[in-house]
Amino acid sequence: MKFFDAHCDVLFRLFSDPSLSFQKNSSLHVTYEGLQQTGSAVQCFAIYIPESVRPESRFFVALEMIECFYTQILSNPKMKMVRSKKDIASLQQGEIGAMLTLEGCEAIGESLVQLKTLLRLGVYSVGLTWNHANMVADGALETRGGGLTAFGKRVVRTLNEEKCWIDLSHLCERAFWDVIELADYPIASHSNAYSLCLHPRNLRDEQIRAIIQKNGVIGVTFVPQFLHNDQRPATIADVLRHVDHICSLGGENHLGFGSDFDGIAHTVEGLANVTHYAHLINELLKYYSEDQVKKFLFHNFYERMPK
Ligand SMILES: [Zn+2]
Repeated sequence: MKFFDAHCDVLFRLFSDPSLSFQKNSSLHVTYEGLQQTGSAVQCFAIYIPESVRPESRFFVALEMIECFYTQILSNPKMKMVRSKKDIASLQQGEIGAMLTLEGCEAIGESLVQLKTLLRLGVYSVGLTWNHANMVADGALETRGGGLTAFGKRVVRTLNEEKCWIDLSHLCERAFWDVIELADYPIASHSNAYSLCLHPRNLRDEQIRAIIQKNGVIGVTFVPQFLHNDQRPATIADVLRHVDHICSLGGENHLGFGSDFDGIAHTVEGLANVTHYAHLINELLKYYSEDQVKKFLFHNFYERMPK
């Protein structure tokens, strides 16, 4: 069964440690070999600029990560860059779609030209913040909790015009509601349900309902700290509880997955790397119809692509 994974950080791992190879590496969660084994997938690759990078260097680092996307990921014969529904529909048997995303607008500073340049280079989905504040808005762990700035509103309008996804994951609550009001194509690429796991990165029920209302998609994520609040390892059953909860809020057609592979130090039992999507599928099929599972795994994200 094909899947659409809305968020992973392997690009950041590869960028940070040039000795790592994307082709095959037991310390990476997402590899070419792993994706090949799964058969058929669209994997999103996030550009994430660490906060240690000086502001004036951030855009250049984003370009370096895009270079890494081309040289390390797209250089593999079956990896195909996808920047539209059409690109995904025309993937041949055995080909893997690679989608470029931005995790946080730190890279663009206060420049719409820099934003548009990243879009021209193939970025399809733009997360407005990481955990802290930037020129666009405040992130989930920023104590100030500010909403969209005037520049942030221009960023949202630009993304609407360019028909790009606006990623709500990582925003603080106030900014979330500001964006929901303005965004044409909102998603939350890697967030879970707050009512099941009290973490500021998770979404409250009214936020989940708002994304559904806006015809967006929520990518249930495999980050153990976002799955439960107990002192025990996270399991696939925990992932299913979040799926079930989002469905109970009317989200059957609005949920997918955003693993956060290679962005997490610990993994869910049975979901240690991208090949383990097979375990998740098996478990989902015990409780949901094949059609429903196909929607969760692939079609909900795919059908809601704005271009
Ligand atoms: Zn993240």
